[in-house]
Amino acid sequence: MSASLTPRIRTRFAPSPTGFIHLGNIRSALYPWAFAKANGGDFILRIEDTDQERSTQAAVDVILESMQWLGMQPDEGPYYQMQRMDRYKEALAQLQAAGYVYPCYMSVAELDALREKQIAAKQKPRYDGTWRPESGKTLPPIPEGVQPVLRFKTPTEGSVAWDDKVKGRVEVANAELDDLVIARPDGTPTYNFCVVVDDIDMGITHVIRGDDHVNNTPRQIHIFRALGKEPPVYAHLPTVLNEQGEKMSKRHGAKAVTQYRDEGYLADAMVNYLARLGWSHGDDEIFSREQFLQWFDLEHLGSSAARFDEAKLRWVNAQHLKAADDAWLAQQLLPRLRQRLQASGQTAEALEDGRLPAIAALFKDRCETLEDLADWALVFYLDAPRINEADRQQHLAQAPETLRPALAALRAAFEVIPADAWQKEAISTAFKAVLKEQGLKMPQLAMPVRVLTVGVAHTPSVDAVLQLLGKKKVLKFLAQF
Ligand code: GLU
Repeated sequence: MSASLTPRIRTRFAPSPTGFIHLGNIRSALYPWAFAKANGGDFILRIEDTDQERSTQAAVDVILESMQWLGMQPDEGPYYQMQRMDRYKEALAQLQAAGYVYPCYMSVAELDALREKQIAAKQKPRYDGTWRPESGKTLPPIPEGVQPVLRFKTPTEGSVAWDDKVKGRVEVANAELDDLVIARPDGTPTYNFCVVVDDIDMGITHVIRGDDHVNNTPRQIHIFRALGKEPPVYAHLPTVLNEQGEKMSKRHGAKAVTQYRDEGYLADAMVNYLARLGWSHGDDEIFSREQFLQWFDLEHLGSSAARFDEAKLRWVNAQHLKAADDAWLAQQLLPRLRQRLQASGQTAEALEDGRLPAIAALFKDRCETLEDLADWALVFYLDAPRINEADRQQHLAQAPETLRPALAALRAAFEVIPADAWQKEAISTAFKAVLKEQGLKMPQLAMPVRVLTVGVAHTPSVDAVLQLLGKKKVLKFLAQF
């Protein structure tokens, strides 16, 4: 087939805005997005808000915010199902005219009774076709004052099958499917019907969604064909489990996607981690967004449930943090630092003094999240160090009589370094000279100096840290012993 005859790939993410969106949900957006982008196609966002009691604008906002954060902007949409009711009714009329639907007057009480009878007889509960018109069959008299539902006339013979990109060939006997309600007594269409009309109208070529929908698929395929269309390609993704092995859900403690942003995860790390939660590219664990979009295919989707692992997510984030551009990291740190400084009653002007990229460069490979990095960076902007108590005990309280003259000598040596020569080389030279003169080993002086200046004993090399802290603050803090 020539390229021009291949239809443009169109995928969709179709969340129901009920409750917040967690990682398991957003993964169902990631794959259709990536598949569309990997193939030069379109990714469509459709909000399935027909459950008016449970749908909220707040939930829609979180979906949009999460997708924006992760850089998975739709090419089209959001479309809202509630705004498409007229179109569904029109499609319903088309099915009715073609004889695919029939009214059913069975009351809820009758349905319940039928159900109980079937369960007692160890049968699968299903609608028994009482109101289904057949040639030669006499239907019961229409009860008065009852608004019927509309049911879809599912074929009784044969089977329905599709080649699922994850599950392989799936085949369901039509005898297993009862006649689905596709319109309620008030005429509003039901879920499975709206999905099919949307997937047709939006030209969806590949439906990539959670496998909690796999039971809907045979029914949806029948509706596609009744509307005169062939169904799209399906890929049903296995569930995402939480760390305890339960299906990830809010009830089971799942966090909203946006909470990971707030906790300092990078969008690209999140995309990387989620991508691997059900898809693989050889043994590659760490990859960029660009690589992912180049590599993504439906052939390497996993077929067993993936389990969320926060430690692994932190590790993936740490790798991305380490590889991130320092100036970019500085930008990401700014709002976090501003907030911390304001919380401790300081102004945030110093953040603009140009040190932040170098601070990010020095600390990024010992951090797992932007929050960790912000904790380190903050130290360089505080008016006074926050001294860790255990480090104070261990490094300042032990031998004050040895430390005091050494610190005085160090301050004197630092004083004479001209402000524009305050670089780690000069600092290191001064440091070594004092060690020699005082007969001390590096840790005996470096540890107390770190504790006094940045509050903790374990940091990257002390000369680099002091350079970034600045001469003025170093002298002031050392004088406080
Ligand atoms: N609205 C459905 C959900 O949130 C998805 C439907 C679909 O992808 O077909 O689970």
